[in-house]
Amino acid sequence: MGATAVAFHAYEQDLHRLPIDVPRIHEAATRAGLRRYISLARLGGMMAGLYSVPDVYTYLHPESRVTPRAKAGPHATPGLSGHMACVNDAGFRQYALEYADGLIRRLGADGLIIDEPQGVVRPIVCECERCEAARRPDETREDAQYRFRLEFLSDLCAKARERAPQIRTTMVAAVGLERPEMFQLFARVRGLDAIGIEPFWAFVGKDPQWVGETCATGSERVRGVGRQLDIWTQNFGLKARHQADLPAVYRMIGDARPDAIWNFWWWRACDDPAAVMALTRQGLASIVS
Ligand SMILES: [Zn+2]
Repeated sequence: MGATAVAFHAYEQDLHRLPIDVPRIHEAATRAGLRRYISLARLGGMMAGLYSVPDVYTYLHPESRVTPRAKAGPHATPGLSGHMACVNDAGFRQYALEYADGLIRRLGADGLIIDEPQGVVRPIVCECERCEAARRPDETREDAQYRFRLEFLSDLCAKARERAPQIRTTMVAAVGLERPEMFQLFARVRGLDAIGIEPFWAFVGKDPQWVGETCATGSERVRGVGRQLDIWTQNFGLKARHQADLPAVYRMIGDARPDAIWNFWWWRACDDPAAVMALTRQGLASIVS
C-alpha cells in the first residue's frame, strides 16, 4: 500500500527558507501524488513539534506569554520551552492567523494538523489581565481557558478554510480512552473535520491488545461527536521486543475503520528501523487487502 498523504511540520525558523527551499519539497510531494498536510509546529509554544525548538513570537514579545509561566511538558528542553502564548493577547492572535494564512497561501495545503494543542489536551492556567477581563462571571479559570483556546483554534480552522476551501482540518487530541466529555470539548472547535487519537501502547507500557480496546473506544467517542477518526500509529521508539506486535496492532487499527492512519518516519528512535519500516508496510497492506 502506498502512502496517500504526507504531513509537514512548518517551523517559524524556516521562514527565511520559505521563498525557495521549502516550496521545493512541497512541490516534490505533489508530483509524487501525495496530499499535503501542514502542522503549525510549536506555534505559540502550544503546539507539538520538535521540543527543542522554541516558538518565535513569545520569544520576541514577552508580554504575550501566559502568566505565570506555563509548566514545560515532559519532553521539553528546559529553558527553551514553557513560554506559551496567551490566546487573548491581540498581537499573538493576529500574528498566528496571518502566519497560518501565509503558509497555506505560499505552500498550498490539502490539510491542516493541530497537533496536541496545550490548553486543550491538558489544562493550562493564565491569570493575566486579558484573561481575567474576558472570563465570564460563572466560569472557572480552567473553563474559561478551555473556551478561549477552543475559540482560537476555531479561528485558525476558519482562516485555513478561507484560504483553502477544501482543506481537511484534524486535531491530534487524545489517546482514545478519555472520558466522553473531553471529546465533546474537542468538538467545540468549529470547522474541525477530524479528531486524531494516539494509542501508543509501547509508549505507555501496555500490551498490544490495549490498542484494540482503545481504538474501539476512541472510534465510538470521536464519531459520537460527529467527527472523522484519525489514528496515529506508534511505529516510532520501538524496542526490538515490541516490533513483532506491529502486524497485530495494524489489524486492530484497521478494525476501527479509521478515516486516516498516520505513521511516523521509519528511522525515528527504533532499535531496528528497517524492520519497523518493513512491518509498517506489511501492516498497512494487510488493512487494505
Ligand atoms: Zn492570558
